[in-house]
Amino acid sequence: MRVALLGPPGSGKGTHGKGLSAELRVPLIATGDILRQAIAEGTRLGLAAQADVKSGRLVADETVLGLIETRLGLPDAANGFLLDGFPRTVAQADGLASLLESGGERTLDHVVNLMVSAETVVNRLRERWLCGSCGAIYNLSSKPPKVAGQCDLCGQALKQRADDEPATVRARLEVYERETAPLVAYYAQRGVLRNVDAAGPAEQVYGAIRRILV
Ligand code: ADP
Ligand code: ZN
Repeated sequence: MRVALLGPPGSGKGTHGKGLSAELRVPLIATGDILRQAIAEGTRLGLAAQADVKSGRLVADETVLGLIETRLGLPDAANGFLLDGFPRTVAQADGLASLLESGGERTLDHVVNLMVSAETVVNRLRERWLCGSCGAIYNLSSKPPKVAGQCDLCGQALKQRADDEPATVRARLEVYERETAPLVAYYAQRGVLRNVDAAGPAEQVYGAIRRILV
């Protein structure tokens, strides 16, 4: 199954991605994670993306399409994949469509649209903490770690993302509205858009996505 998760920052794409990818038995491909790792490692991709990611702007379409082309070419993606954070522009969606067509594949099977208000997003991201080691996601009010500052799963230290700072979150939301929100109509037109109310508790949202995909 070929699926993409669509939604503003803080809508829960990362929270649900891991579980869904395990249940669907397809790899999770999160462009934000790939870019942050490249930045941490100081690779050529990382150096090219660094300034944009830090300030909440989009990385150039050609850069992201290049990394997606490479990633989708790996054997584990042959029978499907779950995209998180890609496509984010109409140009990326068109690029993905031609990539899949040239491989003899049809378009995406489902685009899950996680719908949530800007206000909820800003509040969620302000309280979001991540494990620096295994990537587990916490929220100080809705999903606090058992021991403050420490990951429940692996015991390593929790940290906040540099771009979760409120001013940068607002910039990312503006970018989402301008560049990414047009994909809602784009995929609705192609008959693959699946709307999900993403404002409720994580378990409830996960259940709603699951009923669509599993
Ligand atoms: P979120 O969905 O919470 O905004 P991500 O981890 O998906 O966070 O992305 C973080 C940053 O990485 C984005 O603000 C952007 O700079 C960059 N990025 C990720 N995916 C893409 C993409 N498909 N196109 C352009 N830039 C991207
Ligand atoms: Zn951890």
